[in-house]
Amino acid sequence: MNKNLLYRSIPKVDVLLENEEIKASMEYYGRDIVVEAIRVEMDELRAFIGTCEDEEAAMEKITKLTERILERAEKMLQPNMKRIINATGTILHTNLGRAPISPEHMKHVMEIAVGYSNLEYNLNAGKRGERYSHFEELLCKITGAEAAMAVNNNAAAVMLVLSSIGKGGEVIVSRGELVEIGGKFRIPDVMVQSGAALVEIGTTNKTHFSDYEDAITENTAALLKVHTSNYRIVGFTETVGIDELVTLSRKHDIPIVEDLGSGVLLDLSKYGITYEPTVQDSIRAGADVVSFSGDKLLGGPQAGIIVGKKKYIDKMKKNPLTRALRIDKFTAATLEVVLKEYLSEKRAVKNIPVLQMITKSQEDIIKEARKLKRFLTGLELNAELGIENCESQIGGGSLPLERIPSKAVTIKPRNISTAELEVRMRFLSVPIIPRTVNDKIVLDVRTIGVDNFEAFRQLKDICD
Ligand SMILES: *Cc1c(COP(=O)(O)O)cnc(C)c1O
Repeated sequence: MNKNLLYRSIPKVDVLLENEEIKASMEYYGRDIVVEAIRVEMDELRAFIGTCEDEEAAMEKITKLTERILERAEKMLQPNMKRIINATGTILHTNLGRAPISPEHMKHVMEIAVGYSNLEYNLNAGKRGERYSHFEELLCKITGAEAAMAVNNNAAAVMLVLSSIGKGGEVIVSRGELVEIGGKFRIPDVMVQSGAALVEIGTTNKTHFSDYEDAITENTAALLKVHTSNYRIVGFTETVGIDELVTLSRKHDIPIVEDLGSGVLLDLSKYGITYEPTVQDSIRAGADVVSFSGDKLLGGPQAGIIVGKKKYIDKMKKNPLTRALRIDKFTAATLEVVLKEYLSEKRAVKNIPVLQMITKSQEDIIKEARKLKRFLTGLELNAELGIENCESQIGGGSLPLERIPSKAVTIKPRNISTAELEVRMRFLSVPIIPRTVNDKIVLDVRTIGVDNFEAFRQLKDICD
């Protein structure tokens, strides 16, 4: 095999640059991008010839050079982050972007994002305004709190609360509440970062009122309650509720702050889900400051929402950390429209995708499973299809023990292994992420959404 001849068969760059297709693609994608694509493809081709012992394969690769350059140029402009179909049945899937936002809500956000807005401009006064003003009143109305604000996420919110209220002082926390939330968020570590000294009380399973009472000193800056979102201690346990701590808090003039985690704003038990304490519960019980996520059970954008007594919220708004942790216009706009839905529970459950998925009726689930199976049957895949019972999860560290009965369409491919099909599904242009159970692809319809069924047409090419 004559490698020199092969190398000489590679078209020269100036010849490529005169190729009509390449010229057209430069016009379309931009010269820099196409030149870069040429360089990368040429390097790859030379390296291939260097190690290749099959002359025909090498010639074929040389012939297809232009085609590959055009493909690469196109790929270079395609975003790496893309929409995927979540068929796992986990509603708040942390790896898949947690809470989806409805297209209706995003229409408004797009209008705000593509132009200028009154983000920090008070139109009535004709002067500088506050970015929280668009949703502060709403949050107060919904939760019963005096004041509200929001930062980048709940981890940031907890940090800001502790830094504003606890810095230089002691913050008392039960050992049963020293949690780690996914992604290295550990209460003791956050405490160190915020400049507050952690005072641990009680034991893992039991903390008594007297433990709080005994730990109070003149340096106590706050009593911290942390919702143990992602785990449960069951059996011989005792915790002290905010309603009990209030007397202590008032007597010593020490605020109660709570990291509530999920931030549910309505009673989910009406829909067959285990009761999860709401933000309203905490405020009513007497918490001075409560923080929670915007993109967990609330179903909104990533944000850390802080509600509570005005004097503490004002302090946080003035904390220099706030400038580093503040939300942007995308979040402010999304938060406002999502929170508006909570003015009517019926609207919230209908229009917020997370709540819609959680509360979907069994009839609808069955209907959707049948519809998806019919759609897949129509594709004449080389596979056995079925409908099976499955269990959806809330996810995102919320209600870890909750399992919601659901239905899944199952696929057992005939020609390829289930594992191979799962890989191919990940490489689709709109990837589909399923679960694999008992060597079958399991597609939980709860998190797919009827509007996404069309994307399953892609299976035709990978399961034949
Ligand atoms: C999820 C959670 C956090 C972190 O919230 P993010 O919005 O993900 O930053 C903090 N504390 C608790 C109790 C949580 O459940």
